Amino acid sequence: MVQLQPYTPPPWAAKLGLVPAQRYRLAQLPTPVHPWAVPGLPPGCELHIKRDDLTGMQLSGNKVRKLEFLLAEAREKGHDSVITIGGIQSNHARATAVAARYLGWDAHLVLRNSRHLADSDPGLVGNLLVERLVGAHIWQVTKEEYGRYGGPALGERLAEQLRRERGLNPYIIPVGGSSATGVWGYLDMIHELEQQIAGQGFTDIAMACGSGGTTAGIALGNHLSGLGLRVHAYGVCDDPAYFYEFCDGLLAGLGATPDVVGADSAAMFRAVQAKGAGYAISRDDELALVAEVAATTGIILDPVYTGKALHGLVSEMRANPGAWAGRKVLFVHTGGLLGMYDKAAQLAPLVEGAGRAHRLALD
Ligand SMILES: *Cc1c(COP(=O)(O)O)cnc(C)c1O
Repeated sequence: MVQLQPYTPPPWAAKLGLVPAQRYRLAQLPTPVHPWAVPGLPPGCELHIKRDDLTGMQLSGNKVRKLEFLLAEAREKGHDSVITIGGIQSNHARATAVAARYLGWDAHLVLRNSRHLADSDPGLVGNLLVERLVGAHIWQVTKEEYGRYGGPALGERLAEQLRRERGLNPYIIPVGGSSATGVWGYLDMIHELEQQIAGQGFTDIAMACGSGGTTAGIALGNHLSGLGLRVHAYGVCDDPAYFYEFCDGLLAGLGATPDVVGADSAAMFRAVQAKGAGYAISRDDELALVAEVAATTGIILDPVYTGKALHGLVSEMRANPGAWAGRKVLFVHTGGLLGMYDKAAQLAPLVEGAGRAHRLALD
C-alpha cells in the first residue's frame, strides 16, 4: 500500500538544499482544479479551487504532501516511530497518526489542551477519534506548559523518554510538519500545478497559513518556476511579520536566501491577517460564510483554516471589488473537515435554522 520511491525535483528546484532522494507515495495526486461559484464575488473576477482536501489518506489535506517527504527522511535516517506536536484538534497530528500507521509505526502526539481539560481523557471528537482509532499515543500538555517550554523542547523531552523507557528511536516532526524538508511537499505541488493550469490565465493563488510550510513551498515554487502568480497567505494565528520571518527561516533551510533566489518572503507572498478572534476560535460571520458556501457550492471548508482564509479573501474582494476585476484566482483547499465537529454547537443555529430536517409522515 505504501511505496518508497526515488524523487526527482522539478528542474527549477534542483539547486536547492535538502533535495529529497526519496518520498513515500501516500497522497492521491494530482488533486483536481475546478471552477468554484462562491456567491458575491466581484464582477469580472473568477474563482477556482485546488482540491487538496481530496489528497486522501483519511482526509489528510495538505499535511500528507509534507509527510511524504518527512517520513521518507525519517526512514532514511533509521528512525522507527514519530513524535509530533499540535493543538488538541490538530489536523497535522491526525494526518501523522494515520501515515505512521500506514508504515506500521507508532505515533506519539503531544497535544495542547486547556488547563482544566489536560488532566482528563480528551474524548473522541473530530481528529481525536481518528487518532485513537489508529492507535496513536496522546500526551497532553496545558497551553501554559506549551508556552513555557515550546514545541521543540516538549518533542525532545518525549523523545528522550521514549528512547529510555521503550527503546524507540523517534523522528520529531515540528508543528504542522513545517520544516525545510516538509516544504518540499508544496514545492512539488507547484510542479503539479504548472502542468495543470499552464496557459489558463490564472493571476492569483490564495491559501490559509498556519505553521507556514504550505505558504513557503507555494511562494518559493511560484517564484522559482516562473508561474508568476500573486500569492496571498491568510494567517489564522500570529501576525504577518511573524510569517515573513518564519518563512524566511524555512527558505534559508533550503538554501533559498535572497542572495541566491533574488527575493525574500515578503517579496514572494503577501501575508494577510485573518485570525479573527484567535487561533481555532470562530466568529459567527466566519461560520456563516462556511455554511453559505456549503449550501451554495457543496464544498465544505473547515473553521480553523480554510474558512478563515476564504473569509479573508472574500472580505478583501468585497471591500475593493475594482482591484479584483479581471483576476483569475485559485484558492487552495487544504482540508480540515474533521475540525468541524469541534464547532458543532456553534454551527447548529446556522444549520438547523435552515429547517431542513423533517419528520416523514407515513399514512
Ligand atoms: C495545517 C493546515 C493549514 C495550514 O498549513 P501550514 O502549512 O501549517 O501553514 C491549512 N489548512 C488546514 C486544513 C490545515 O490542517
